[in-house]
Amino acid sequence: MDAHKEHGASFSGPVKQQKQEQPNTEHDDAVYLNFMKSHTCYDAIPTSCKLVVFDTKLQVKKAFFALVANGLRAAPLWDSKLQRFVGMLTITDFINILHHYYKSPMVQIYELESHKIETWRDIYLQYSHQFLISISPKASLYDAIYYLLKYKIHRLPVLNPETGNVLHILTHKRILKFLHIFGRTVPKPEFIHRSIQDLGIGTFRNIATIAQTASVHDALAVFVERRVSALPVVDEQGKVVALYSRFDVINLAAQKTYNNLHMSMREAVVRRMCFVEGVITCYAHETLDAIVERIVQAEVHRLVLVDSGGVVRGIISLSDILQGMVLAPAGIDCLLS
Ligand code: ADP
Ligand code: ADP
Ligand code: AMP
Repeated sequence: MDAHKEHGASFSGPVKQQKQEQPNTEHDDAVYLNFMKSHTCYDAIPTSCKLVVFDTKLQVKKAFFALVANGLRAAPLWDSKLQRFVGMLTITDFINILHHYYKSPMVQIYELESHKIETWRDIYLQYSHQFLISISPKASLYDAIYYLLKYKIHRLPVLNPETGNVLHILTHKRILKFLHIFGRTVPKPEFIHRSIQDLGIGTFRNIATIAQTASVHDALAVFVERRVSALPVVDEQGKVVALYSRFDVINLAAQKTYNNLHMSMREAVVRRMCFVEGVITCYAHETLDAIVERIVQAEVHRLVLVDSGGVVRGIISLSDILQGMVLAPAGIDCLLS
């Protein structure tokens, strides 16, 4: 279905006039926090967008094929018995199903054919969120960021409390893009000109990577065990040669190759149909300003931090950036594990 904004305004401008922000002082670390607190989720949703909703009685395989056919990454789940939305179906769920049931290239994944979404949820909900995490269109973007980071999810449905309709699914990408476009008039704080290393924005230790000779099955195991959103694919020297994100796993559904997870990463990477050319990287000495510009322009969820030899040294994801720019000034750390 097409989801339409219920009162006209679009991404072409926030609904209300931007508040006069605080003066630009060297210590004005709260500018982005104030910006997010003074804009609502409604402000950041597009005028119209495609939204697919799945009934929990739908077969899981059909649901993932429907995501592929519609070029979507996630869908809210409707329980017709309870007459309400009960959760989300994302590519992570596809990964979990494959990882849980896959045996070998010789054995078809029977459960993928037979399970309904509700059957899978009964099994999986023992390890995951038991309820739908959603937000009201009137809530602030600050609250949306807080929910995304606190619950470690990448999809936050905006639910109209009066009608019960899902208006949009907010993501980190959408929120940072909104700040990038409409936050231009906000005076830049001093910290945006400091290096990411200096600010400590990102993960610099214990980076989950995958060798290009490893199998897709190995990569899925790392996604499940480490709960990371992407893996830099590395050669024998630890140099990054590609990026394999959870999103890329949907190619297995698109190409119906999910029965052969013993395919190498090298092959999986070249077989992708929709992907970003090369690897978008950054260096530790680069400023937060430069990093934000690059990640917004590339429309990716993270940059791979490399040294001068191209060896992986860290990950700077949108979660790290929103934590550093918005939650840290509020004295909150959602990324402490
Ligand atoms: P992806 O990165 O693949 O889009 P997420 O990180 O958002 O996936 O999802 C991780 C897990 O949390 C999945 O099992 C998904 O179904 C669940 N999930 C995602 N968003 C929500 C939400 N808003 N409420 C409840 N569960 C969610
Ligand atoms: P999502 O929008 O679901 O968060 P991602 O940004 O993780 O998706 O991935 C979208 C596409 O961009 C994938 O094909 C992924 O491999 C690619 N991609 C993501 N980050 C990078 C990066 N730093 N360098 C190169 N490609 C990337
Ligand atoms: P994300 O799920 O990408 O929004 O990131 C959540 C946290 O996990 C952030 O602190 C990232 O830096 C970190 N992270 C993401 N990918 C990896 C990875 N491959 N290895 C280690 N940490 C990661």
